[in-house]
Amino acid sequence: MSATRTSQQERVPADQRFREVLWENPEVCSNCFRRCKEVETLHPPEWGGGNYPTERHERTADGELGRDVETHDRHGALRTYPPRTTCGNCGSVRLLADHDSLSLEAAVGLVEPIADRLEEAGYEVDRQLMRKWVRVHKRTEAFTNYDREIFASAVQEFTDP
Ligand SMILES: [Zn+2]
Repeated sequence: MSATRTSQQERVPADQRFREVLWENPEVCSNCFRRCKEVETLHPPEWGGGNYPTERHERTADGELGRDVETHDRHGALRTYPPRTTCGNCGSVRLLADHDSLSLEAAVGLVEPIADRLEEAGYEVDRQLMRKWVRVHKRTEAFTNYDREIFASAVQEFTDP
């Protein structure tokens, strides 16, 4: 049994901390890593409450209410503008990451908000080494277009515990 548990622990992906705190966190913009929402877990009444919400999403100062253009009618006219949280810092609609590769300066500049989010989550961060890691990898041709992987590995290498 313990052998099974050990092998499962070894399969924990190396980017798990990055994904949990930054990439898949609904509170954080995946494009610039600013905190745009606060998600509060609600506790439905014990007597039931099938329609009771389990989460409340509040926008923070960095989150703005935006509109996402989604559907058009058969004449091409717009039909709906669903409300979405838009990042007040970078303008990302729905707080999604841009797919374009970042410049060296932009990538190094994201170390600060990344470190801020990690410290909020209770981790100690070596910002200086994290900046150096990002700078070195962005200057390396084989890695320069893999921003997400560069950030994930930096998070893995330079945060404690
Ligand atoms: Zn953003």
